[in-house]
Amino acid sequence: MASHLFSRDKETGLADRMFIDTHAHLQWASFDGVRRNVLERAKAKRVTRIVNIGFDLAGSLKGVKLAENHKGLYATVGIHPHSANTLNKKIVEKMRELAANPKVVAIGEIGLDYYRNLSPKEVQKQAFETQLALAQEIELPVVIHDREAHEDILQALQRFKGKIKGMMHCFSGNKEMAQQYIDLGYKISFAGPITYPKNHELREIAKWINLKNVLLETDCPFLAPQEVIGKRNEPSFLPMIAQEVANLKRISMDELAETTTRNAEEILKLSTTA
Ligand SMILES: [Zn+2]
Ligand SMILES: [Zn+2]
Repeated sequence: MASHLFSRDKETGLADRMFIDTHAHLQWASFDGVRRNVLERAKAKRVTRIVNIGFDLAGSLKGVKLAENHKGLYATVGIHPHSANTLNKKIVEKMRELAANPKVVAIGEIGLDYYRNLSPKEVQKQAFETQLALAQEIELPVVIHDREAHEDILQALQRFKGKIKGMMHCFSGNKEMAQQYIDLGYKISFAGPITYPKNHELREIAKWINLKNVLLETDCPFLAPQEVIGKRNEPSFLPMIAQEVANLKRISMDELAETTTRNAEEILKLSTTA
């Protein structure tokens, strides 16, 4: 059911376009004290639903609390590869408890980061595997962070083929990788980097990819789009990313909003009322 997508704004008569920011970190401390304004600005730009992504246990907890208190906000719980060395049985149990909340829509962000290597590779791999197993067990999709670790990520996801689906957040690989992830049941999510002048390959992927596999995200407070680079990123900047993708695909913003919203609703099983 997505009839609301086609409703018209009473005053302007314009299509009631809506976006979902599928990857934000509004629980980040840099939003403390300004969160209400940030949410209002997002709403004014028609970014009506936002998924707050967990990165450690405290961040996951804070994200779930925010989601409980605001309509249109959702949460995920997960331990980021940077914090992989904090994962233990007790934390997995806590994650399982948190994930039972109806506002929790995925496990993430999880994955591997060989660019910064803040946790040793083997520790990252173990934490990734443990959380993939949890996602499978509790039947939630996953949000994958992949930085210079494509081969190992692919291998891990192949072991869970057909058992887990999810999204490749802030995708940074090549076409072949995108296709392999799509074949495994993953959506490809574009963030601010698609607007950066040097990222020609990413823009080629956006042109090529079938729209049904596309998601949009800000990854705020990080990775502000080119137009506002250097600023603290926030969900109200999502339409800048959307405009870039719409231009590349030569489609209208309405079509992009409608399809990416449907894609996010499908992969994250978002209810339209929560
Ligand atoms: Zn990430
Ligand atoms: Zn993130």
